[in-house]
Amino acid sequence: MRNGICSKCSATTIFASQNGLRLGDYTHAVVMPHTGPGFRGILRGHNTAGLWQFVCTTCGYLEMYVLDGEALGVIAQQWMPVPRS
Ligand SMILES: [Zn+2]
Repeated sequence: MRNGICSKCSATTIFASQNGLRLGDYTHAVVMPHTGPGFRGILRGHNTAGLWQFVCTTCGYLEMYVLDGEALGVIAQQWMPVPRS
């Protein structure tokens, strides 16, 4: 998607926007720590303007990327790693 080619249908009709999708009431993305189902407490989020969306207007496929080095560091420290399978 980031190379201008749809990873689902191979079309070259890719459009991108920074914070172009409003998900809920927020106009910007907030990175939150991963928590288990029994978590109780106060969480502090990390605001980021580095959330980019790439959409193929041929098939509608959407990909999102965090393109903010500081936010990526927070995610690497606070989210669960996904093991290779
Ligand atoms: Zn597509």
